[in-house]
Amino acid sequence: MEELSHWIDGKEVKGTSGRFSDVYNPATGEVIARVPLATAAELDAAIQSAARAQVTWAATNPQRRSRVMMKFGALINDNMDKLAELVSREHGKTLPDAKGDVQRGLEVIEVCMGAPAMLKGEYTDNAGPGIDLYAMRQPLGVVAGITPFNFPAMIPLWKMGPALVAGNAMILKPSERVPSTSILLAKLAQEAGLPDGVLQVVNGDKEIVDAILDHDVIQAVGFVGSTPIAQYIYGRAASNGKRAQCFGGAKNHMLIMPDADLDKAADALIGAGYGAAGERCMAISVAVPVGQKTADALIERLVPRIEKLKVGPYTGGDDVDFGPVITKASQDRINRLIASGVDQGAELVIDGRDLKIQGYENGFFCGPSLFDRVTPDMEIYREEIFGPVLTTVRSDSYEDALKLVMDNDYGNGTAIYTADGDTARDFASRVNVGMVGINFPIPVPLSYYSFGGWKKSAFGDLNQYGPDAFRFYTKTKTVTARWFSGIKDGAALNFKALD
Ligand code: NAD
Repeated sequence: MEELSHWIDGKEVKGTSGRFSDVYNPATGEVIARVPLATAAELDAAIQSAARAQVTWAATNPQRRSRVMMKFGALINDNMDKLAELVSREHGKTLPDAKGDVQRGLEVIEVCMGAPAMLKGEYTDNAGPGIDLYAMRQPLGVVAGITPFNFPAMIPLWKMGPALVAGNAMILKPSERVPSTSILLAKLAQEAGLPDGVLQVVNGDKEIVDAILDHDVIQAVGFVGSTPIAQYIYGRAASNGKRAQCFGGAKNHMLIMPDADLDKAADALIGAGYGAAGERCMAISVAVPVGQKTADALIERLVPRIEKLKVGPYTGGDDVDFGPVITKASQDRINRLIASGVDQGAELVIDGRDLKIQGYENGFFCGPSLFDRVTPDMEIYREEIFGPVLTTVRSDSYEDALKLVMDNDYGNGTAIYTADGDTARDFASRVNVGMVGINFPIPVPLSYYSFGGWKKSAFGDLNQYGPDAFRFYTKTKTVTARWFSGIKDGAALNFKALD
Protein backbone atom coordinates (compact mmCIF):
# COMPACT_ATOMS: atom_id res chain seq x y z
CA MET A 1 0.00 0.00 0.00
CA GLU A 2 1.45 3.35 -1.06
CA GLU A 3 1.96 5.79 1.80
CA LEU A 4 1.66 9.36 0.57
CA SER A 5 3.54 12.35 1.98
CA HIS A 6 3.25 16.01 2.73
CA TRP A 7 5.33 18.47 0.67
CA ILE A 8 7.37 20.58 3.04
CA ASP A 9 10.38 22.76 2.24
CA GLY A 10 10.68 21.40 -1.26
CA LYS A 11 10.56 17.69 -0.47
CA GLU A 12 8.20 14.87 0.28
CA VAL A 13 7.96 14.38 4.02
CA LYS A 14 6.30 11.40 5.67
CA GLY A 15 3.62 12.07 8.27
CA THR A 16 4.47 11.57 11.94
CA SER A 17 0.99 11.61 13.47
CA GLY A 18 0.28 7.93 12.93
CA ARG A 19 -3.14 8.97 11.59
CA PHE A 20 -4.03 8.24 7.97
CA SER A 21 -6.98 8.50 5.64
CA ASP A 22 -7.62 5.92 2.91
CA VAL A 23 -7.47 7.07 -0.70
CA TYR A 24 -9.68 5.05 -3.06
CA ASN A 25 -9.82 4.31 -6.72
CA PRO A 26 -13.59 4.96 -6.93
CA ALA A 27 -13.89 2.83 -10.07
CA THR A 28 -12.71 -0.34 -8.34
CA GLY A 29 -13.64 0.57 -4.79
CA GLU A 30 -10.11 -0.38 -3.72
CA VAL A 31 -7.92 1.53 -1.32
CA ILE A 32 -4.91 2.54 -3.42
CA ALA A 33 -2.97 4.64 -0.93
CA ARG A 34 -3.15 6.19 2.47
CA VAL A 35 -2.54 9.84 3.10
CA PRO A 36 -1.06 11.08 6.38
CA LEU A 37 -3.17 13.44 8.46
CA ALA A 38 -0.92 16.10 9.94
CA THR A 39 -0.90 17.24 13.54
CA ALA A 40 -1.00 20.86 14.66
CA ALA A 41 2.73 20.59 15.46
CA GLU A 42 3.57 19.45 11.90
CA LEU A 43 1.43 22.28 10.56
CA ASP A 44 3.14 24.80 12.80
CA ALA A 45 6.59 23.74 11.56
CA ALA A 46 5.40 24.08 7.93
CA ILE A 47 3.95 27.53 8.63
CA GLN A 48 7.07 28.81 10.40
CA SER A 49 9.22 27.69 7.52
CA ALA A 50 6.80 29.21 4.98
CA ALA A 51 6.95 32.50 6.87
CA ARG A 52 10.74 32.58 6.52
CA ALA A 53 10.64 31.70 2.82
CA GLN A 54 7.92 34.28 2.15
CA VAL A 55 10.15 37.22 3.12
CA THR A 56 12.64 36.56 0.32
CA TRP A 57 9.89 35.59 -2.14
CA ALA A 58 7.98 38.81 -1.48
CA ALA A 59 11.18 40.80 -2.07
CA THR A 60 11.66 39.09 -5.45
CA ASN A 61 10.46 41.47 -8.11
CA PRO A 62 7.08 40.74 -9.70
CA GLN A 63 8.44 39.99 -13.15
CA ARG A 64 10.66 37.26 -11.73
CA ARG A 65 7.73 35.81 -9.84
CA SER A 66 5.68 35.85 -13.02
CA ARG A 67 8.51 34.07 -14.88
CA VAL A 68 8.14 31.22 -12.38
CA MET A 69 4.48 31.09 -13.41
CA MET A 70 5.49 30.97 -17.09
CA LYS A 71 7.67 27.92 -16.47
CA PHE A 72 5.08 26.40 -14.17
CA GLY A 73 2.46 26.75 -16.89
CA ALA A 74 4.78 25.13 -19.45
CA LEU A 75 5.48 22.23 -17.07
CA ILE A 76 1.78 21.72 -16.36
CA ASN A 77 1.25 21.52 -20.11
CA ASP A 78 4.13 19.07 -20.54
CA ASN A 79 2.74 16.92 -17.72
CA MET A 80 -0.90 17.14 -18.75
CA ASP A 81 -1.30 13.37 -19.26
CA LYS A 82 0.37 12.49 -15.97
CA LEU A 83 -1.71 15.04 -14.03
CA ALA A 84 -4.94 13.90 -15.70
CA GLU A 85 -4.16 10.26 -14.89
CA LEU A 86 -3.68 11.15 -11.20
CA VAL A 87 -6.92 13.14 -11.18
CA SER A 88 -8.87 10.29 -12.77
CA ARG A 89 -7.34 7.59 -10.59
CA GLU A 90 -8.31 9.22 -7.31
CA HIS A 91 -11.44 11.10 -8.42
CA GLY A 92 -12.89 8.77 -11.06
CA LYS A 93 -13.69 11.33 -13.77
CA THR A 94 -12.91 10.43 -17.40
CA LEU A 95 -9.50 11.35 -18.81
CA PRO A 96 -10.83 14.06 -21.19
CA ASP A 97 -12.70 15.60 -18.26
CA ALA A 98 -9.58 15.34 -16.07
CA LYS A 99 -7.64 17.18 -18.76
CA GLY A 100 -10.30 19.88 -18.65
CA ASP A 101 -9.80 20.02 -14.88
CA VAL A 102 -6.06 20.64 -15.37
CA GLN A 103 -6.67 23.02 -18.29
CA ARG A 104 -9.04 25.32 -16.40
CA GLY A 105 -6.46 25.55 -13.61
CA LEU A 106 -3.67 26.15 -16.10
CA GLU A 107 -5.62 29.08 -17.54
CA VAL A 108 -5.48 30.77 -14.13
CA ILE A 109 -1.70 30.25 -14.10
CA GLU A 110 -1.59 31.88 -17.57
CA VAL A 111 -3.26 34.99 -16.15
CA CYS A 112 -0.74 34.93 -13.30
CA MET A 113 2.04 35.19 -15.90
CA GLY A 114 0.86 38.76 -16.43
CA ALA A 115 0.42 39.46 -12.72
CA PRO A 116 2.74 42.50 -12.53
CA ALA A 117 0.12 44.44 -14.46
CA MET A 118 -2.48 43.53 -11.85
CA LEU A 119 -0.23 44.14 -8.87
CA LYS A 120 0.52 47.72 -9.89
CA GLY A 121 -0.48 50.37 -7.44
CA GLU A 122 -1.89 53.87 -7.90
CA TYR A 123 -0.14 57.23 -7.98
CA THR A 124 -1.25 60.83 -7.80
CA ASP A 125 1.41 63.34 -8.69
CA ASN A 126 1.13 66.70 -6.92
CA ALA A 127 -1.70 65.72 -4.60
CA GLY A 128 -0.69 68.85 -2.66
CA PRO A 129 2.21 71.31 -2.78
CA GLY A 130 5.22 69.04 -3.31
CA ILE A 131 3.13 66.10 -2.19
CA ASP A 132 2.62 62.79 -3.99
CA LEU A 133 0.18 60.15 -2.93
CA TYR A 134 0.54 56.51 -3.84
CA ALA A 135 -0.93 53.16 -2.98
CA MET A 136 0.98 49.89 -3.06
CA ARG A 137 -0.33 46.36 -3.15
CA GLN A 138 1.67 44.19 -0.80
CA PRO A 139 1.39 40.47 -0.12
CA LEU A 140 -0.38 39.32 3.02
CA GLY A 141 2.29 36.87 4.21
CA VAL A 142 1.39 33.21 4.72
CA VAL A 143 -2.05 32.27 3.44
CA ALA A 144 -3.95 28.98 3.31
CA GLY A 145 -5.90 27.19 0.60
CA ILE A 146 -8.37 24.47 1.59
CA THR A 147 -9.80 22.62 -1.39
CA PRO A 148 -12.53 20.07 -2.21
CA PHE A 149 -12.32 16.68 -3.88
CA ASN A 150 -14.15 17.44 -7.09
CA PHE A 151 -11.47 19.38 -8.98
CA PRO A 152 -8.15 17.95 -7.75
CA ALA A 153 -6.05 20.10 -10.12
CA MET A 154 -8.14 23.13 -11.03
CA ILE A 155 -9.06 24.43 -7.59
CA PRO A 156 -5.59 24.05 -5.99
CA LEU A 157 -4.29 25.98 -9.04
CA TRP A 158 -6.98 28.66 -8.57
CA LYS A 159 -5.71 29.06 -5.03
CA MET A 160 -1.96 28.80 -5.46
CA GLY A 161 -1.45 30.83 -8.66
CA PRO A 162 -2.70 34.27 -7.58
CA ALA A 163 -1.55 33.86 -3.96
CA LEU A 164 2.01 32.90 -4.89
CA VAL A 165 2.58 35.32 -7.75
CA ALA A 166 1.40 38.15 -5.47
CA GLY A 167 4.32 37.32 -3.15
CA ASN A 168 2.62 35.21 -0.50
CA ALA A 169 3.58 31.79 0.78
CA MET A 170 0.79 29.22 0.82
CA ILE A 171 -0.18 26.31 2.98
CA LEU A 172 -2.31 24.15 0.70
CA LYS A 173 -4.59 21.63 2.39
CA PRO A 174 -6.06 19.54 -0.42
CA SER A 175 -8.97 17.19 -0.02
CA GLU A 176 -7.74 14.05 1.71
CA ARG A 177 -9.67 12.04 -0.90
CA VAL A 178 -7.55 13.30 -3.84
CA PRO A 179 -4.19 14.36 -2.42
CA SER A 180 -1.71 13.22 -5.08
CA THR A 181 -2.35 15.87 -7.74
CA SER A 182 -1.42 18.69 -5.35
CA ILE A 183 1.88 17.01 -4.53
CA LEU A 184 2.74 16.68 -8.23
CA LEU A 185 1.76 20.32 -8.80
CA ALA A 186 4.06 21.36 -5.94
CA LYS A 187 6.93 19.40 -7.51
CA LEU A 188 6.33 21.12 -10.84
CA ALA A 189 6.24 24.53 -9.14
CA GLN A 190 9.62 23.75 -7.59
CA GLU A 191 10.99 22.70 -10.98
CA ALA A 192 9.69 26.01 -12.35
CA GLY A 193 11.83 27.88 -9.84
CA LEU A 194 9.52 28.42 -6.89
CA PRO A 195 11.76 28.63 -3.81
CA ASP A 196 11.40 25.84 -1.26
CA GLY A 197 9.01 26.61 1.56
CA VAL A 198 6.89 29.08 -0.41
CA LEU A 199 4.34 26.36 -1.19
CA GLN A 200 3.75 23.73 1.49
CA VAL A 201 1.21 20.95 0.97
CA VAL A 202 -0.01 19.75 4.34
CA ASN A 203 -2.50 16.89 4.24
CA GLY A 204 -5.13 16.49 6.86
CA ASP A 205 -8.73 16.62 7.94
CA LYS A 206 -10.80 18.79 10.28
CA GLU A 207 -8.07 18.75 12.93
CA ILE A 208 -5.60 20.47 10.64
CA VAL A 209 -8.20 22.82 9.16
CA ASP A 210 -9.05 24.04 12.66
CA ALA A 211 -5.34 24.49 13.42
CA ILE A 212 -5.00 26.59 10.23
CA LEU A 213 -7.99 28.73 11.23
CA ASP A 214 -6.54 29.36 14.69
CA HIS A 215 -2.91 29.91 13.69
CA ASP A 216 -1.69 33.48 14.24
CA VAL A 217 0.67 33.51 11.26
CA ILE A 218 -2.00 32.58 8.69
CA GLN A 219 -3.35 35.82 7.25
CA ALA A 220 -6.02 34.61 4.87
CA VAL A 221 -8.00 31.50 4.06
CA GLY A 222 -9.30 30.59 0.61
CA PHE A 223 -11.76 27.73 0.97
CA VAL A 224 -13.85 25.76 -1.52
CA GLY A 225 -16.18 22.97 -0.45
CA SER A 226 -19.67 22.34 0.87
CA THR A 227 -21.84 25.11 2.30
CA PRO A 228 -21.93 24.06 5.98
CA ILE A 229 -18.12 23.83 6.08
CA ALA A 230 -17.70 27.06 4.09
CA GLN A 231 -19.90 28.92 6.55
CA TYR A 232 -18.09 27.40 9.52
CA ILE A 233 -14.66 28.25 8.12
CA TYR A 234 -15.71 31.78 7.24
CA GLY A 235 -16.97 32.40 10.77
CA ARG A 236 -13.98 30.92 12.55
CA ALA A 237 -11.39 32.55 10.26
CA ALA A 238 -13.09 35.95 10.52
CA SER A 239 -13.39 35.76 14.29
CA ASN A 240 -9.64 35.13 14.36
CA GLY A 241 -9.09 38.28 12.31
CA LYS A 242 -8.25 36.59 9.03
CA ARG A 243 -9.41 37.41 5.55
CA ALA A 244 -11.60 34.63 4.27
CA GLN A 245 -13.31 33.78 1.01
CA CYS A 246 -15.28 30.58 1.34
CA PHE A 247 -17.12 29.08 -1.60
CA GLY A 248 -19.86 26.58 -0.90
CA GLY A 249 -22.34 24.25 -2.54
CA ALA A 250 -24.91 24.83 -5.22
CA LYS A 251 -28.25 23.94 -6.72
CA ASN A 252 -28.10 25.32 -10.22
CA HIS A 253 -31.28 25.78 -12.24
CA MET A 254 -31.68 26.00 -15.98
CA LEU A 255 -34.80 27.66 -17.38
CA ILE A 256 -36.01 26.34 -20.70
CA MET A 257 -38.36 28.79 -22.37
CA PRO A 258 -41.00 27.66 -24.88
CA ASP A 259 -39.08 29.40 -27.68
CA ALA A 260 -35.78 27.63 -26.89
CA ASP A 261 -34.10 25.24 -29.28
CA LEU A 262 -35.09 22.14 -27.33
CA ASP A 263 -32.51 19.83 -28.89
CA LYS A 264 -29.75 22.19 -27.89
CA ALA A 265 -31.27 22.60 -24.43
CA ALA A 266 -31.49 18.82 -23.98
CA ASP A 267 -27.86 18.36 -25.08
CA ALA A 268 -26.81 21.07 -22.65
CA LEU A 269 -28.69 19.41 -19.79
CA ILE A 270 -27.04 16.07 -20.50
CA GLY A 271 -23.55 17.58 -20.33
CA ALA A 272 -24.23 19.89 -17.41
CA GLY A 273 -26.35 17.43 -15.43
CA TYR A 274 -24.40 14.21 -15.84
CA GLY A 275 -20.83 15.27 -16.74
CA ALA A 276 -18.35 14.29 -14.00
CA ALA A 277 -21.21 12.24 -12.47
CA GLY A 278 -22.88 15.52 -11.47
CA GLU A 279 -20.03 16.25 -9.05
CA ARG A 280 -19.50 19.83 -10.17
CA CYS A 281 -20.48 22.90 -8.22
CA MET A 282 -21.63 24.33 -11.56
CA ALA A 283 -23.59 21.23 -12.59
CA ILE A 284 -27.18 21.90 -13.59
CA SER A 285 -29.24 19.81 -11.21
CA VAL A 286 -32.66 21.42 -11.76
CA ALA A 287 -34.26 21.79 -15.20
CA VAL A 288 -37.13 24.27 -15.20
CA PRO A 289 -39.16 24.00 -18.40
CA VAL A 290 -41.68 26.81 -18.75
CA GLY A 291 -45.09 25.53 -19.86
CA GLN A 292 -46.41 21.96 -19.87
CA LYS A 293 -45.79 21.54 -23.62
CA THR A 294 -42.16 22.58 -23.20
CA ALA A 295 -41.80 20.16 -20.29
CA ASP A 296 -43.26 17.20 -22.21
CA ALA A 297 -41.13 17.94 -25.26
CA LEU A 298 -38.01 18.32 -23.15
CA ILE A 299 -38.49 15.03 -21.26
CA GLU A 300 -39.13 13.32 -24.60
CA ARG A 301 -35.75 14.56 -25.82
CA LEU A 302 -33.86 13.84 -22.59
CA VAL A 303 -34.87 10.18 -22.21
CA PRO A 304 -33.18 8.73 -25.32
CA ARG A 305 -30.10 10.84 -24.70
CA ILE A 306 -29.82 9.58 -21.11
CA GLU A 307 -30.39 5.99 -22.17
CA LYS A 308 -27.36 6.28 -24.45
CA LEU A 309 -24.99 7.46 -21.70
CA LYS A 310 -22.17 5.08 -20.91
CA VAL A 311 -20.97 4.95 -17.32
CA GLY A 312 -17.63 3.32 -16.59
CA PRO A 313 -14.09 3.52 -15.28
CA TYR A 314 -11.73 6.15 -16.71
CA THR A 315 -9.76 3.30 -18.24
CA GLY A 316 -12.88 2.07 -20.04
CA GLY A 317 -12.26 3.73 -23.41
CA ASP A 318 -13.18 6.92 -25.21
CA ASP A 319 -16.91 6.28 -25.19
CA VAL A 320 -17.26 6.43 -21.37
CA ASP A 321 -19.34 9.52 -20.59
CA PHE A 322 -18.87 9.67 -16.85
CA GLY A 323 -17.32 7.70 -14.02
CA PRO A 324 -18.14 6.72 -10.46
CA VAL A 325 -18.92 9.06 -7.58
CA ILE A 326 -16.24 9.69 -5.01
CA THR A 327 -17.07 7.32 -2.12
CA LYS A 328 -19.36 4.50 -1.11
CA ALA A 329 -20.96 6.92 1.36
CA SER A 330 -21.69 9.33 -1.47
CA GLN A 331 -23.18 6.52 -3.61
CA ASP A 332 -25.39 5.43 -0.69
CA ARG A 333 -26.50 9.01 -0.03
CA ILE A 334 -27.45 9.54 -3.69
CA ASN A 335 -29.46 6.31 -3.72
CA ARG A 336 -31.18 7.32 -0.49
CA LEU A 337 -32.09 10.72 -1.94
CA ILE A 338 -33.52 9.06 -5.05
CA ALA A 339 -35.67 6.86 -2.80
CA SER A 340 -36.85 9.93 -0.90
CA GLY A 341 -37.87 11.56 -4.21
CA VAL A 342 -40.00 8.55 -5.07
CA ASP A 343 -41.50 8.47 -1.56
CA GLN A 344 -42.34 12.16 -1.71
CA GLY A 345 -44.19 11.83 -5.00
CA ALA A 346 -41.78 12.84 -7.74
CA GLU A 347 -41.89 10.86 -10.98
CA LEU A 348 -38.70 8.84 -11.44
CA VAL A 349 -38.48 8.69 -15.24
CA ILE A 350 -35.08 6.98 -15.31
CA ASP A 351 -33.71 5.10 -12.31
CA GLY A 352 -29.91 4.91 -12.16
CA ARG A 353 -29.71 2.90 -8.97
CA ASP A 354 -28.39 -0.65 -9.04
CA LEU A 355 -26.07 -0.04 -11.95
CA LYS A 356 -23.49 -2.82 -12.03
CA ILE A 357 -20.48 -2.72 -14.31
CA GLN A 358 -18.85 -6.01 -15.10
CA GLY A 359 -15.41 -6.25 -13.52
CA TYR A 360 -16.10 -3.15 -11.41
CA GLU A 361 -18.81 -4.48 -9.13
CA ASN A 362 -17.28 -2.76 -6.10
CA GLY A 363 -16.89 0.61 -7.81
CA PHE A 364 -18.94 3.57 -6.57
CA PHE A 365 -21.07 3.86 -9.69
CA CYS A 366 -24.46 5.52 -9.98
CA GLY A 367 -26.28 5.39 -13.29
CA PRO A 368 -27.96 8.54 -14.58
CA SER A 369 -31.36 9.30 -13.01
CA LEU A 370 -34.06 11.66 -14.22
CA PHE A 371 -36.93 13.02 -12.15
CA ASP A 372 -39.98 14.84 -13.47
CA ARG A 373 -42.67 16.71 -11.49
CA VAL A 374 -40.39 17.61 -8.61
CA THR A 375 -41.70 20.25 -6.22
CA PRO A 376 -39.70 22.66 -4.05
CA ASP A 377 -40.71 21.02 -0.77
CA MET A 378 -39.06 17.69 -1.70
CA GLU A 379 -35.71 16.67 -0.26
CA ILE A 380 -34.30 16.03 -3.76
CA TYR A 381 -35.00 19.68 -4.54
CA ARG A 382 -33.74 21.15 -1.27
CA GLU A 383 -30.51 19.11 -0.96
CA GLU A 384 -27.44 19.40 -3.16
CA ILE A 385 -27.40 15.80 -4.47
CA PHE A 386 -23.93 16.02 -6.05
CA GLY A 387 -24.55 12.98 -8.21
CA PRO A 388 -25.87 12.11 -11.70
CA VAL A 389 -29.46 13.01 -10.91
CA LEU A 390 -31.32 15.63 -12.93
CA THR A 391 -34.57 16.89 -11.43
CA THR A 392 -37.29 18.66 -13.38
CA VAL A 393 -39.52 21.29 -11.79
CA ARG A 394 -42.29 22.27 -14.19
CA SER A 395 -43.21 25.93 -14.18
CA ASP A 396 -46.25 27.68 -15.60
CA SER A 397 -44.64 31.01 -16.39
CA TYR A 398 -41.33 32.79 -16.72
CA GLU A 399 -42.06 34.80 -13.56
CA ASP A 400 -42.71 31.63 -11.54
CA ALA A 401 -39.54 30.04 -12.88
CA LEU A 402 -37.51 33.13 -12.03
CA LYS A 403 -39.01 33.21 -8.53
CA LEU A 404 -38.04 29.57 -8.02
CA VAL A 405 -34.39 30.39 -8.73
CA MET A 406 -34.55 33.55 -6.63
CA ASP A 407 -36.09 31.75 -3.64
CA ASN A 408 -33.47 29.00 -3.64
CA ASP A 409 -30.89 29.20 -0.85
CA TYR A 410 -28.00 28.71 -3.24
CA GLY A 411 -26.83 31.16 -5.88
CA ASN A 412 -23.79 29.72 -7.64
CA GLY A 413 -24.77 29.39 -11.30
CA THR A 414 -27.89 29.43 -13.43
CA ALA A 415 -28.77 29.38 -17.11
CA ILE A 416 -31.61 30.24 -19.45
CA TYR A 417 -32.31 28.71 -22.86
CA THR A 418 -34.38 31.03 -25.04
CA ALA A 419 -34.46 32.60 -28.48
CA ASP A 420 -35.69 35.89 -27.04
CA GLY A 421 -33.01 38.46 -26.19
CA ASP A 422 -35.39 40.50 -24.08
CA THR A 423 -36.20 37.55 -21.80
CA ALA A 424 -32.53 36.60 -21.54
CA ARG A 425 -31.58 40.16 -20.69
CA ASP A 426 -34.30 40.43 -18.06
CA PHE A 427 -33.19 37.14 -16.51
CA ALA A 428 -29.50 38.12 -16.36
CA SER A 429 -30.39 41.45 -14.84
CA ARG A 430 -32.86 40.30 -12.17
CA VAL A 431 -31.66 36.89 -11.03
CA ASN A 432 -29.84 36.79 -7.67
CA VAL A 433 -27.16 34.31 -8.74
CA GLY A 434 -23.45 34.99 -9.23
CA MET A 435 -22.82 33.35 -12.62
CA VAL A 436 -25.39 33.34 -15.41
CA GLY A 437 -25.42 31.47 -18.72
CA ILE A 438 -27.51 32.52 -21.71
CA ASN A 439 -27.91 29.52 -23.98
CA PHE A 440 -24.78 28.35 -22.13
CA PRO A 441 -25.20 25.68 -19.46
CA ILE A 442 -22.06 25.95 -17.30
CA PRO A 443 -21.08 29.61 -17.18
CA VAL A 444 -17.72 29.26 -15.39
CA PRO A 445 -16.06 32.59 -16.14
CA LEU A 446 -12.76 32.49 -18.01
CA SER A 447 -9.64 33.04 -15.95
CA TYR A 448 -9.40 36.80 -16.57
CA TYR A 449 -12.82 37.27 -14.92
CA SER A 450 -13.51 36.10 -11.38
CA PHE A 451 -15.57 33.15 -10.14
CA GLY A 452 -18.05 33.28 -7.29
CA GLY A 453 -21.61 32.58 -6.32
CA TRP A 454 -24.16 34.47 -4.23
CA LYS A 455 -26.33 33.58 -1.25
CA LYS A 456 -25.24 30.36 0.50
CA SER A 457 -22.83 29.50 -2.30
CA ALA A 458 -20.19 31.95 -1.08
CA PHE A 459 -19.15 33.69 2.12
CA GLY A 460 -16.86 36.72 1.87
CA ASP A 461 -16.91 39.59 -0.56
CA LEU A 462 -14.28 38.88 -3.22
CA ASN A 463 -14.39 36.16 -5.85
CA GLN A 464 -11.68 33.70 -6.74
CA TYR A 465 -9.10 34.05 -9.57
CA GLY A 466 -9.07 36.97 -12.02
CA PRO A 467 -8.80 40.55 -10.76
CA ASP A 468 -10.57 39.81 -7.45
CA ALA A 469 -7.92 37.24 -6.47
CA PHE A 470 -5.18 39.84 -6.67
CA ARG A 471 -7.22 42.07 -4.39
CA PHE A 472 -7.84 39.23 -1.98
CA TYR A 473 -4.19 38.19 -1.76
CA THR A 474 -2.76 41.69 -1.34
CA LYS A 475 -3.33 44.51 1.09
CA THR A 476 -3.18 48.14 0.17
CA LYS A 477 -0.72 50.55 1.74
CA THR A 478 -1.17 54.22 0.96
CA VAL A 479 1.75 56.60 1.25
CA THR A 480 1.60 60.39 1.38
CA ALA A 481 5.07 61.70 0.52
CA ARG A 482 6.55 65.17 0.58
CA TRP A 483 10.05 65.84 -0.74
CA PHE A 484 11.68 69.19 -0.25
CA SER A 485 13.66 70.59 -3.15
CA GLY A 486 17.33 69.64 -3.00
CA ILE A 487 20.30 68.19 -4.84
CA LYS A 488 19.50 66.36 -8.08
CA ASP A 489 21.44 63.24 -9.18
CA GLY A 490 23.59 63.35 -12.28
CA ALA A 491 22.31 61.79 -15.50
CA ALA A 492 22.46 58.02 -16.14
CA LEU A 493 23.15 57.33 -19.83
CA ASN A 494 23.12 53.56 -19.96
CA PHE A 495 19.90 51.65 -20.67
CA LYS A 496 19.64 48.50 -18.59
CA ALA A 497 17.14 46.04 -17.27
CA LEU A 498 15.88 46.70 -13.78
CA ASP A 499 16.43 43.18 -12.56
P1 NAD B 1 -16.19 19.34 1.91
O1 NAD B 1 -16.80 20.57 2.47
O2 NAD B 1 -16.54 18.04 2.51
O3 NAD B 1 -14.59 19.44 2.01
C1 NAD B 1 -13.86 20.55 1.54
C2 NAD B 1 -12.59 20.69 2.36
O4 NAD B 1 -12.94 20.93 3.72
C3 NAD B 1 -11.70 19.46 2.34
O5 NAD B 1 -10.36 19.86 2.24
C4 NAD B 1 -12.00 18.79 3.69
O6 NAD B 1 -10.87 18.11 4.19
C5 NAD B 1 -12.35 19.96 4.58
N1 NAD B 1 -13.35 19.60 5.60
C6 NAD B 1 -14.33 18.68 5.50
N2 NAD B 1 -15.07 18.64 6.63
C7 NAD B 1 -14.54 19.56 7.47
C8 NAD B 1 -14.88 20.00 8.78
N3 NAD B 1 -15.89 19.46 9.46
N4 NAD B 1 -14.14 20.97 9.33
C9 NAD B 1 -13.12 21.52 8.65
N5 NAD B 1 -12.74 21.14 7.41
C10 NAD B 1 -13.45 20.18 6.81
O7 NAD B 1 -16.47 19.36 0.35
P2 NAD B 1 -16.18 18.22 -0.72
O8 NAD B 1 -17.12 17.10 -0.51
O9 NAD B 1 -14.71 17.92 -0.78
O10 NAD B 1 -16.53 18.99 -2.08
C11 NAD B 1 -17.81 19.04 -2.63
C12 NAD B 1 -18.52 20.34 -2.28
O11 NAD B 1 -17.74 21.44 -2.73
C13 NAD B 1 -19.86 20.48 -2.97
O12 NAD B 1 -20.78 21.02 -2.04
C14 NAD B 1 -19.59 21.46 -4.10
O13 NAD B 1 -20.70 22.19 -4.54
C15 NAD B 1 -18.58 22.35 -3.46
N6 NAD B 1 -17.79 23.08 -4.43
C16 NAD B 1 -17.98 24.43 -4.53
C17 NAD B 1 -17.25 25.15 -5.47
C18 NAD B 1 -17.43 26.64 -5.58
O14 NAD B 1 -16.56 27.29 -6.15
N7 NAD B 1 -18.50 27.20 -5.06
C19 NAD B 1 -16.34 24.50 -6.31
C20 NAD B 1 -16.18 23.12 -6.17
C21 NAD B 1 -16.90 22.42 -5.23
